[in-house]
Amino acid sequence: MSGSPTHPLYDVIIVGTGAGGAPLACHLAEAGQRVLLLEAGRSWRADQYPDNEQDASLRLMWGGGLEPSKDGALALLRAKVAGGGTVVNQALLDRFDEDAFEAWRQQSGLAEHSSQHFQRYYQLTESALALESIARSDWNENARLYVEGFEQLGYGWSPLRRGQAHCNVADGNDCVRCLGGCPRQAKQSMTVTFLPRALAAGAVMEANCEIAGLVEGGQGVTVYGRQGGRNVTFHGRRCVLAAGALGSTALLLKSGYGSQLPALGHHFYCHPQFVSLALYDRNIDAHKGSFQAVKSEEPRFRAAGFKLENVFAGPLGVAFLLPQIGARHQQVMQRFRQLACIEVAVRDVTPGRISLDRRGRISVDKPLAAPELTRAKAGRQVIHDIYRQTGAEEVIDSPTNIGLHLMGGCVMGTDPRRSVVDVGFRVHGSRRVHVVDGSVFPNAPGINPSLTIMAMAHQAAEALLGQTLSLPTLVTERAS
Ligand SMILES: Cc1cc2nc3c(=O)[nH]c(=O)nc-3n(C[C@H](O)[C@H](O)[C@H](O)COP(=O)(O)OP(=O)(O)OC[C@H]3O[C@@H](n4cnc5c(N)ncnc54)[C@H](O)[C@@H]3O)c2cc1C
Repeated sequence: MSGSPTHPLYDVIIVGTGAGGAPLACHLAEAGQRVLLLEAGRSWRADQYPDNEQDASLRLMWGGGLEPSKDGALALLRAKVAGGGTVVNQALLDRFDEDAFEAWRQQSGLAEHSSQHFQRYYQLTESALALESIARSDWNENARLYVEGFEQLGYGWSPLRRGQAHCNVADGNDCVRCLGGCPRQAKQSMTVTFLPRALAAGAVMEANCEIAGLVEGGQGVTVYGRQGGRNVTFHGRRCVLAAGALGSTALLLKSGYGSQLPALGHHFYCHPQFVSLALYDRNIDAHKGSFQAVKSEEPRFRAAGFKLENVFAGPLGVAFLLPQIGARHQQVMQRFRQLACIEVAVRDVTPGRISLDRRGRISVDKPLAAPELTRAKAGRQVIHDIYRQTGAEEVIDSPTNIGLHLMGGCVMGTDPRRSVVDVGFRVHGSRRVHVVDGSVFPNAPGINPSLTIMAMAHQAAEALLGQTLSLPTLVTERAS
């Protein structure tokens, strides 16, 4: 395989520009590799992100906003935009604890899955991001209620560590807008951190370019898809799939790897989230200000397999979550400003499966099984106690359950019968195809995944380059 002016030969083609793809592209390009980034979504200027929920869902997400699991038990959310999930997420950046790594080691058989091994990669990642916790004076009423309930009931909580800089919440900037892309470039998404660095170092990005499959040859990999209504083909010495758990798994399945990799598509997890709203007799304005400032830090919850999150959404999101219909729905929505919200996020232990349906579309089989429902019930009980303790008039449990930490499908491990990639992120049996994103997670950590995905991108860069990256010089952490 050779390059030509119209078909250059890249050292590495990376499919996907999210938490895995962007940092990897940055490190490889800065090391002098010729990198091509391919992204199905559009590349937006920060001041042009959609300014309303409907457009944000339609224009930044796969499936127009939500993709249902096979039995409809879960609504899955995944971003389709340059920067991937980091553009639409809450930017909560936590390191894994030893419990999460222990569970990984048991599944993967890899000693590298340890806090000690990841320490350096977390430092490298954090050195490239601005990290803040939100000052108590900037909490909104939803956060205050949450903490009041926790303290009255004797549960531990702590400030969240977020990837953000200069949000100026006191000036009236609302975090809820950032779920459709942060117009202020305050959120530390890939579009303000690793992607600009990658491009400055010479990486090329093709957006609006949806890859359909790849073919591995003796000297390189051909990647093909559609861009702007026409067929496109790219050639590289190596290809890295960083298209997220569903995207990377689907691409390997479409490219025929399923026959040699029996674990492909298995071990899918998503930290199912169960939302409970509550009506108060006063305005809470949970959609205003820094709506997610604190988190549960309670060993009893960790042991029981859940955590509680102090989230909210805009009016469309809330309308979608409500169980009521007709006049009752309207009555609740008329009291939108009086609603508070807490959700239980479950560390799921029952694996799902990603496959392709007969038309080649992604299908996710992820029923909510007894362990997940038991964990959700235990978490919801605590939420009800918090609401009761803080004087809520009525608690409304949403029947709509959400999965937005999409993990697994191409899990890492030593055994090719039980895993898809090796410790060097290379697909078992392949010389040229790697996977670097949330799909390689062996199981669900019960902790926000994106910081660890970025840390893994550093590991992958070292594996691909065969050299060690330098340690950070600075960690920017402003705890208020
Ligand atoms: C609303 C929301 C809130 C979240 N909040 C948090 C949080 O606070 N903290 C946290 O840690 N995590 C959070 N997450 C999850 C986190 O964003 C993801 O776990 C993370 O972004 C996954 O990284 P990834 O590299 O695996 O995939 P992604 O970041 O999703 O990137 C994959 C990219 O590949 C592209 N792609 C897919 N298929 C193709 C194809 N065929 N061709 C070309 N491109 C393709 C996609 O468009 C996407 O841009 C949240 C997610 C959502 C949706």
